[in-house]
Amino acid sequence: MRDIPAVHRFTTDPAIATYAPLIGRDAVRAHVHAVLEEARSGALTSASFEALRAGVLARLAAAQAEGLIGVINGTGVLLHTNFGRAPLSHAALESVRALGAGYTNLEFDLATGERGSRYDRVSSLLCELSGAQGALVVNNCAAAVLLVLDTFARGREVVVSRGELIEIGGGFRLPDVLAKSGATLVEVGTTNKTYLRDYRDAWNSNTALFMRTHPSNYRVTGFTAAVSAASLATLARELEVISFEDLGTGALVDVTPYGLPSEPTLAQEIAAGLDLVTVSGDKLLGGPQCGIIAGRAELIATLKRNPLLRALRVDKMTLAALGATLAAYAGGRVNDVPLFAMLGSTQDDLLDRARRLCEMVTARRPDARVTPVRTLAATGGGTLPDAEILSAGVAVHPVDSPDALAARLRKARPPVIGRVESGRLVIDLRTVRESELDALASSLGDALETPATP
Ligand SMILES: *Cc1c(COP(=O)(O)O)cnc(C)c1O
Repeated sequence: MRDIPAVHRFTTDPAIATYAPLIGRDAVRAHVHAVLEEARSGALTSASFEALRAGVLARLAAAQAEGLIGVINGTGVLLHTNFGRAPLSHAALESVRALGAGYTNLEFDLATGERGSRYDRVSSLLCELSGAQGALVVNNCAAAVLLVLDTFARGREVVVSRGELIEIGGGFRLPDVLAKSGATLVEVGTTNKTYLRDYRDAWNSNTALFMRTHPSNYRVTGFTAAVSAASLATLARELEVISFEDLGTGALVDVTPYGLPSEPTLAQEIAAGLDLVTVSGDKLLGGPQCGIIAGRAELIATLKRNPLLRALRVDKMTLAALGATLAAYAGGRVNDVPLFAMLGSTQDDLLDRARRLCEMVTARRPDARVTPVRTLAATGGGTLPDAEILSAGVAVHPVDSPDALAARLRKARPPVIGRVESGRLVIDLRTVRESELDALASSLGDALETPATP
C-alpha cells in the first residue's frame, strides 16, 4: 500500500492535466481517487505509476466522451425532472429532425416575403386547443410567470392568497420571482382559507394583478376555502385589474380516464374568464421544455412588446417539437404523446412485461433472483402529488446490497435507475418502453455480476 503513488503525481502529469479545463479540476481529482481506491483494494493487477496513469487516462477519456446520455427510467415517475421530464413523441422528434436540419420560415412570412413572428404558427394551435384569443411560448413556465409579472406588475402590487405562495422544485419560489420582477407581493387570507372579500379588501389603485397559483405539487386539505377562478376573474373585471393564473401542470385534456385525479385543463381556466394563464410544456402536456402563456389578445400583444421576451425566447427545435405535440391533440391522437401512451398501459400489461423481463434476465444469469411485482407509479415533475398509479415491475434481490446493485446499474450502459425498497431493488416498468427491454435485461445482467472481492 505504501507503494501507491501520491495523488499530485497524477494531477501534475501533463497528459492528465490537459483534462482539467475540459471536465474540471475536481472531476479529474475524483477519477484519480477512484483509480487509487481500486489499487488500494487490490482490484488491479499492477499498482505501478505507469499502470495507474493509464487507468486514469482511460477513465478521463471516457468521461469526456460521455455527454448527455439516455438512461432507462425504472423509477415509475413519469415526469421526473432529473431525467428530463416528458419523453417526446415520434412526430415531435421527426419534426425537430426535419426542421432542424435546414432553414425554416421561423421568422419569415411566406405570403408577403416580410419578417414574420416565430410565435404565430404554434399560437394558433394553442388558441384552438385552449379557447384563448392569443398565446405565446417562452423558455419554461418560470419564464412565463416572470414575463407576465415584469410586463404588468413592475412597481405595482400583486395580490396572492397565502395558501398559494408556492415553491416548485429547483428553486422556483413565487415570492422571490415576484421580487425579481419588481412587483410588490400583497398576501391575503390565511394558509387554509382565503375568501373573495380578501382580494377586494386588498385592492387599491396600485393593484396590477390578482394572481392565482395552482397547487401543482401540494394539496391543502381539511377545513379550507379558496376562491374559484371564475369568481376571481369576475372581481378582477369589476375592479379593472388583470386576473392571472399560474396553472403549471398544463393538462390539455381530462386526465381522469387515465386513472389520474382530476386536474384543471388550460381550456377550463380560460373558459372561467381568467385574463392570462401560464403552463409548462413538459408536464402533463407531454411536450418539450417550454412555458405557454394563453389569454386575452391585447395582453398577449403587450407581452410580445416586452424586450425581456428576447431573452426568454424559444428556438426552432422547441417550436417544432411543441407544434407536432399540439397537432397530436388537435388531431385527437392523444395516445401518440408518450406520456399518455405510458399512462394507457394496464397493470396486467405491465405484469406481463415484467414476466418477460424476468425470463430475459434469467436466460443471461440463471442464478438471478428477479420476480415480477405490483408497484405504484407517480406522475412526478411537480404534478399530482397524491396520484397513485397502479403499476408493475421487477424486484431484484442482489447477493450483496440493493444500494450496491443500484450503484452498478447507474454505471451500466445504458444506465438504469430503480428504487431501493425493503431490501431489494425495484424497477418499475410503467416508465420503460417495450423497445428498451433488451437493453434493460443486458444492463441488469451485467450489474448482477458482483465484483469479485479480493
Ligand atoms: C412546474 C410549475 C412551474 C415551473 O414550471 P417550469 O416549466 O418547470 O419552469 C411554475 N408554476 C407552477 C404552478 C408549476 O406547477
